[in-house]
Amino acid sequence: MDVLDLARELSLGPKKAASTNGGEYKASCPKCKDGKDRFCIWPNQGKSGHYWCRVCDTKGDGIQFCRDFLGMTFYQACQKLQVIPELRERVAVDRPFKEAEFTPHIAPPIHQSWQQAAKNFISSSHRKLMSRPGIINLLLNRGFTLDTIQRFSIGWNMENLFEETEKWGIPKEIKENGHPKRQWLPKGIVIPSYVGNEPVKLKIRRSDWSQEDSFPKYVEVSGSRQSPSIYGDMSKPVVIVESELDAMLVQQSASHLVCCVALGGVSKKPDYEMHAWLKQASLILLSLDFDEIGKKRYAFWMKLYPNIHPWPAPFAKSPGDAVRLFHVHILDWIKAGLC
Ligand SMILES: [Zn+2]
Repeated sequence: MDVLDLARELSLGPKKAASTNGGEYKASCPKCKDGKDRFCIWPNQGKSGHYWCRVCDTKGDGIQFCRDFLGMTFYQACQKLQVIPELRERVAVDRPFKEAEFTPHIAPPIHQSWQQAAKNFISSSHRKLMSRPGIINLLLNRGFTLDTIQRFSIGWNMENLFEETEKWGIPKEIKENGHPKRQWLPKGIVIPSYVGNEPVKLKIRRSDWSQEDSFPKYVEVSGSRQSPSIYGDMSKPVVIVESELDAMLVQQSASHLVCCVALGGVSKKPDYEMHAWLKQASLILLSLDFDEIGKKRYAFWMKLYPNIHPWPAPFAKSPGDAVRLFHVHILDWIKAGLC
């Protein structure tokens, strides 16, 4: 499949105009939506051919054509054209880089009491998880190995807890009803993030969550660092994903190739230190969830770094879903992004 086939598929009426350059065809332009011969196609140039409109100057290769005129993602385009994605091509199809105005915040340090309380909570909930085959199975079915569950100390909190905030280094605060605010630790899967060996963030995937719930499915425990979390060796290329569990899943298969940033929320931004690190990263694969909100966030990130490339998970909205629903091989997907 090449640009000429795509032009035929879109009924642009391509006609052979010359035999030079491996054959040249002329057609109406899918962008101008006009003309008969302004849109030039060279199907035998490159892996998927090239095109150029003499009037509106739209141009590119087969992948660009699929993205611009068929609304496909980069990965979908590669599949349609049956080409193996290569970095060189991706650079060519991506927009010219223009640095965006962005002032990152400096992340405040985590309170020592918070870290101590978090450590205790992580180890007790990890012990609970390891004695609950049902919960372990739930994670195994999502592609996690026992080794990964232990490596990241994923845990299970078996009941809704409301602890004193002071224990977590959060000043006492009295609510309107006269009762003190409490630290809520909902029932569910406990997902820690660390810097070195120190916990800096705790998320809990609530097992009580339902569609009608006014509280989110993933609760960030108060006092956690607001910045995205980093998993793995920071000297390696970076994969940015939305959820901490997805970051762990990528690390499980590909920690020898990449490190991961888990945003921990679609609209989270890098802090000052992370921004400086990402600016000099050799390669960043951006794999935000490919849903309506996620798609909009691609634009924000694409403008921040020169070496960033969109690399959404294949077939599903997130790496976790791709594994769970389509048994996608994470290592192959990461390798394809790096080659
Ligand atoms: Zn045109």
